[in-house]
Amino acid sequence: MNVFKAILDSIFPENFTCELCGIEIFDGDRFCKDCRKTIIFNDGVTCPVCGRMTDVAELCLDCKALAPIYDRAVSALEYSDGAKKLVLAFKDDRPYLKNYFAQLLYKKCAQFTDAEAICFVPMTAKAQGRRGFNQAYLLAKELSKIMKLPLLKGAIRKVKDTAQQKSLSRTDREQNLKSCFKADRAAVRDKTLIVVDDVMTTGATADAVCGELKKRGAKKLYFATVASVRYSGEL
Ligand SMILES: [Zn+2]
Ligand SMILES: [Zn+2]
Repeated sequence: MNVFKAILDSIFPENFTCELCGIEIFDGDRFCKDCRKTIIFNDGVTCPVCGRMTDVAELCLDCKALAPIYDRAVSALEYSDGAKKLVLAFKDDRPYLKNYFAQLLYKKCAQFTDAEAICFVPMTAKAQGRRGFNQAYLLAKELSKIMKLPLLKGAIRKVKDTAQQKSLSRTDREQNLKSCFKADRAAVRDKTLIVVDDVMTTGATADAVCGELKKRGAKKLYFATVASVRYSGEL
């Protein structure tokens, strides 16, 4: 980021240009008309458990075959090309998008009136040091302000990196992922929590994090993400 842009950003913390293609916008929208079409809201038919977009309003085959560990998952956007670009921009150099994303998350989470606190999918200290921030933490923090719920910062930690697991089989990968997270029993016991992350793809991270939280006594878990992949219709 150059100095001029840094100054501009401090005066105008949010762009007056399209978040995706950068052209100037004059109607106050966040996206130009063409890019707006690439952002797909998850407002249609979704699986009642994993929250992914589906064609019919019933449990998807994945959830039927193996019930997820969380009680319910919700996501605001379909992980389309537009959402992919937007999440990437957020992680790269536009942390201010947390405000927009938190509003989207809030729309999905307002129904969880029994939630008592908010936590988030953690990164290892090393990974966070590389990026400078944990995007899930930024989202959870904003959501906790909007929902007026406490943010449980150290409730779950990631104690081991998972980057080098490409060569492992799916089962080994899931096993490997499970041992990466450590939750604090005193912080989560008997609590109904909203767990925040940026994206849900296979659901393996959601299961690993929620599995550890439940193991440590969490009562009920809602897993909320900005975007999730559309259900493919196949197991
Ligand atoms: Zn655009
Ligand atoms: Zn499902």
